[in-house]
Amino acid sequence: MPKDILNGIVLRTTDYRESDRILNVLTKERGLVAVTARGCRKPNSKLAAFSAQFIYGEMEVTERAGKLQLSSAAVLESFYPIRESYEKLLSATRIAAASERVSEGAGAFDDLFLLLYHALSVIAYGDGVPKDTELCFIAKLLKLEGFAPALTYCLRCGRDLRGEKEVRFSNSLGGSVCERCGSAFVTVSTLSLEALRRMMLIDVQELRRVRLPDKVREELDRLIYNYAEYVFEFTMKR
Ligand SMILES: [Zn+2]
Repeated sequence: MPKDILNGIVLRTTDYRESDRILNVLTKERGLVAVTARGCRKPNSKLAAFSAQFIYGEMEVTERAGKLQLSSAAVLESFYPIRESYEKLLSATRIAAASERVSEGAGAFDDLFLLLYHALSVIAYGDGVPKDTELCFIAKLLKLEGFAPALTYCLRCGRDLRGEKEVRFSNSLGGSVCERCGSAFVTVSTLSLEALRRMMLIDVQELRRVRLPDKVREELDRLIYNYAEYVFEFTMKR
């Protein structure tokens, strides 16, 4: 049986049979894979420590009829504090779910892996608001997947909107629209759009520096998810 070494982050787990678990793992080498961890729910299983959500580690897998089975694994990072706060857990669960959905298709996953790794680190060990990291993750994910919205000019007339206080935002047009061209669309403050612009540009190493004012966080929580659900075509907030 062919063996392989894969480095990955467990995005989701599903219990299976009496003591098995299926792990959906985002790997550096192959993108999203499903791996069966046989017997990992038995007491004393050597696979138990690795076979949980958000664990990052190195797996040795064997491949049989196209299916991957975990033969051994080493935990490199558990992001443990995520499990100690409901807010952290919620944000981490959302970004893991979004990562899984986005990586179901083909495409480069190096950048996604790096983004996910850094975002989980900041959620686990940072002292900021987990939601800020979560929103920054989704903003950067949009950019990564080619859906960066227009934020500084009107998509219909081309007018520069940076001097305005409030503008409109259209999911179907893909971003900002001036008051005159888009009165049917939702209103958004240019302050929030500027924060979104910066979040899309920030380096992954700098994620921990993201600090959103309360009003901006609330506004972007709605705006970013509405837009992301529209372009990705799946539900993200449930
Ligand atoms: Zn316009």
